[in-house]
Amino acid sequence: MKPVSRKASTDYRAEAQRRLAYFNDRRDEIVATIRELVEIESPSDNKPAADRVAEAVARKFSRLGGKVLVHQAKDFGNHLQIDFAGNSSAKPVLLLGHYDTVYPLGTLANMPCRAVGGKLTGPGVLDMKSGIALMLHALAGLQEWHKETCHGGLPRAVTVLLVSDEEVGSETSRAITESLAKKAAAVLVIEPSRGVHGTAQTPAQPRR
Ligand SMILES: [Zn+2]
Repeated sequence: MKPVSRKASTDYRAEAQRRLAYFNDRRDEIVATIRELVEIESPSDNKPAADRVAEAVARKFSRLGGKVLVHQAKDFGNHLQIDFAGNSSAKPVLLLGHYDTVYPLGTLANMPCRAVGGKLTGPGVLDMKSGIALMLHALAGLQEWHKETCHGGLPRAVTVLLVSDEEVGSETSRAITESLAKKAAAVLVIEPSRGVHGTAQTPAQPRR
């Protein structure tokens, strides 16, 4: 591999700083998105409730120009696929997540969404409505940064898949996840990481 020149690494750092500043400037907006999603409770075992958040999420992605495809599920919320066209023929990147939460309906009454001491709490804030908000704001950021070269679109195609049954085994969504993952260049699971260093949740499989 070619060593990164000092100039390139300075450019890279400056760009990283610019992008960090972009999200820092939008902190309130991002928190508002998370709060809005948390305040629509969506336990895995309640289809009408789960479908409500799916509809709200679909509207948000659709406002960014994504094409929404609803995969009907009988006993769970409908799974959401949103496709964003890219400005190249490269395979899409798949952003994977779930919108169901482990908290039973009504939890919000005793555990409201609150921002205290720089921390946001509430049912599903961490797992993983913040991840969904992150997807939305990251896509908006990419569109903004590439607006001249990609005419408001993205440099490459992105597919978002948000399933409704992750907390209970992903039985009805598994086939959809596998088929989209096979078509993707990379899959980014936007589940929360562990701790401040961003360690991945899922432990690495031992080598066989
Ligand atoms: Zn999760």
